[in-house]
Amino acid sequence: MPKYIFITGGVVSSLGKGIASASIGKLLQSRGLRVTLQKMDPYLNVDPGTMNPYQHGEVYVTEDGAETDLDLGHYERFTGIATSQLNNVTTGQIYYSVIMKERHGDYLGGTVQVVPHITNEIKESIRRLARHGHFDVVICEVGGTVGDIEGLPFLEAIRQFRQEVGRGNAINIHLTLVPYIRAAEELKTKPTQHSVGKLREIGIQPDILLCRTEKTISRKIREKIALFCNVDEEAVIQAKDVKDIYEVPLMFKVQKLDRVIMRLLGLKTKGSDLARWEKEVVEPALRPKYFTKVAVVGKYIELQDAYKSVYEALRHGGFANNTRVFIKKVDAESIQKWGAEKYLKNVQGLLVPGGFGNRGIEGKIKAIRYARENKIPFLGLCLGMQTASIEFARSVCGLKGANSTEFDKGTAHPIISLLEEQQSVKEMGGTMRLGANPCRVKRHTRTYEAYKKDLVYERHRHRYEFNNKYRKLFAQKGLIVTGVYPKGELVEIIELKDHPWFVASQFHPEFRSKPDEPHPLFREFVRASLQNHQTLKALSPGEDEEEGISPK
Ligand code: GLN
Repeated sequence: MPKYIFITGGVVSSLGKGIASASIGKLLQSRGLRVTLQKMDPYLNVDPGTMNPYQHGEVYVTEDGAETDLDLGHYERFTGIATSQLNNVTTGQIYYSVIMKERHGDYLGGTVQVVPHITNEIKESIRRLARHGHFDVVICEVGGTVGDIEGLPFLEAIRQFRQEVGRGNAINIHLTLVPYIRAAEELKTKPTQHSVGKLREIGIQPDILLCRTEKTISRKIREKIALFCNVDEEAVIQAKDVKDIYEVPLMFKVQKLDRVIMRLLGLKTKGSDLARWEKEVVEPALRPKYFTKVAVVGKYIELQDAYKSVYEALRHGGFANNTRVFIKKVDAESIQKWGAEKYLKNVQGLLVPGGFGNRGIEGKIKAIRYARENKIPFLGLCLGMQTASIEFARSVCGLKGANSTEFDKGTAHPIISLLEEQQSVKEMGGTMRLGANPCRVKRHTRTYEAYKKDLVYERHRHRYEFNNKYRKLFAQKGLIVTGVYPKGELVEIIELKDHPWFVASQFHPEFRSKPDEPHPLFREFVRASLQNHQTLKALSPGEDEEEGISPK
């Protein structure tokens, strides 16, 4: 039977609970334990697939095609383990399933209630994941903040769960904030005390506290937190701000968090070994030799989380090239208004990520045209590939008004259009082409140079496809198809012949990129961007501060 770790958050949101959970997973995994992570989201949507990025940030897509919370991206990036639908549970899914059972008559004669029916269903979702593989530890992260009304059923469920599996087989970790009050020059423990008090009211006593802080927590403050929150002093862990998120497992290791967890759960293993992580991930992240600057032109660039996996994958591509990738985030609509040159003249690469809807499309097209004509390395993802195809059709093939039928139903040249089977789809949730599909890679191409494989699997999330009618014309004009879905001959990857590096995919390679195993397309895109410099420049101090760019 696996052991269970429940992770809750208190005081405020955005403390980095997902990263903390993923880091604990990584740390335990480095001791040879088989771990899995689950995210419980208290909202009523069945999945985040129907929410826009302003509401939710990125929608992360798993191998099996589930549209999930972006924390699953952190889980995969830190532990390297593929997640699935089972790793993300929402209130919407839980209620959906209970209501279906009620209609089916499963509870015939009974009143259906939050306790026990909803809480049982939540517990069952944890067990279902646990049964799905051979795990030593199952880590469940409860979304939201303690005290939220909608989080209560989840907290009650994990309280019961621990009681059922036995206290020594499960622990509770609580992430809180220890704010620094500048005027008083002091760290304050009261919010943590209140948050733990709130948890205790519902019957949960945390075993470990992860204290987010900007300043070092002194021995005295640690003692105080331990005393008032009823936890061992060694279990008060400081989670101080770090330069790079991939340092977090190391920060926990130094404080022996893994040993505390092992003791509490009665586990015995070899010591943890994070040497490779340190050398191949943390080292190039903190002390890269080179730098390059690439622009990401999107619709939600002001949001940190909207293109989370894309930004991370770019950083990974940097790690592989010992390079810091500065990301210049450019709003597609600004390019639409003011032209591409103003924003792109100083960048060494252009990336256009995925997206939905008409807004900003013409700006993306302008940006791509600029990259194509000025031989700036380009990577297009999903909508990025579709817009690159539209741009090529209009400017190189002379097809005036070429478009995707998503944006112009009556276009004379539907370069991107719906497949037959998508035309009858009316429901919006979970009905796109989703999840991993095979893709055959064409030899002697940039794409093949990156993958060095004939068959790859990549994750999808889109409705529209490249229209095969235009393939021949495109090839004659210099844009070739370098990856196809073998069964349906669907276009998966395109590249330009007469260009240093111009590759775009219908799928989302960013979801498969790991810091210690960067995605080939990102790795090669960053390499091409580096080669686009006049000379390779060594990273000079202060470069990070340059306006409009950020290393993360
Ligand atoms: N809107 C496009 C489609 O549905 C692209 C989707 C995406 O970029 N994820 O096909």
